[in-house]
Amino acid sequence: MKLRNIFENNQKWVEEKLSIDADYFKNLSKGQSPEILYIGCSDSRVTAEELMGVNPGDAFVHRNIANMVPNTDLSAMSVIDYAVTHLKVKHIVVCGHYFCGGVKAAMQSQDLGILNPWLRNIRDVYRLHKEELNAIENEEERYNRLVELNVQEQCVNVIKTSQYQKAFAEREVIVHGWVFDIHSGKLIDLKIDFENILKNIQEIYKIC
Ligand SMILES: [Zn+2]
Repeated sequence: MKLRNIFENNQKWVEEKLSIDADYFKNLSKGQSPEILYIGCSDSRVTAEELMGVNPGDAFVHRNIANMVPNTDLSAMSVIDYAVTHLKVKHIVVCGHYFCGGVKAAMQSQDLGILNPWLRNIRDVYRLHKEELNAIENEEERYNRLVELNVQEQCVNVIKTSQYQKAFAEREVIVHGWVFDIHSGKLIDLKIDFENILKNIQEIYKIC
């Protein structure tokens, strides 16, 4: 892949879209009403639209290192607010991936500078699930389980926001935890029981 090819690729893509539908960009420019908010990792191998097989306009996307939803992160919080309050998405997906460099880095005793406070959120996930994780002897398996538990905890972080709680009181907004298996290309639904989680944490985190 060379940077100069990108504009040629873009031209081909425009032509391809127009050959199928002459009004494609005219319609695209009218506005967006995606049903899905996708929160994923910035990893270049884990694309959002391509792995889900969706088109422009179908998913509102937020990506950062290790698909995190820290409640002090203005970017993630703004994305959730806009998606839930204005776009009125029906589904919120947190998608992690096995062999995530961010999750692996958080498992090591290394000073990573500005990444330290970011990755500390993953270390907190480890602390919450230390018993389960430490019981897994195989390092790779332990680290992939942490990827799954991190997805689960980030779903919980979505549920903790007032924007989500307000929307949930009015309509159905479903939170999903998924993992992308980079070895097989498959998306795995972790089948997180978000309603039960919401019930369990309501006592502490109920805002609305
Ligand atoms: Zn990653």
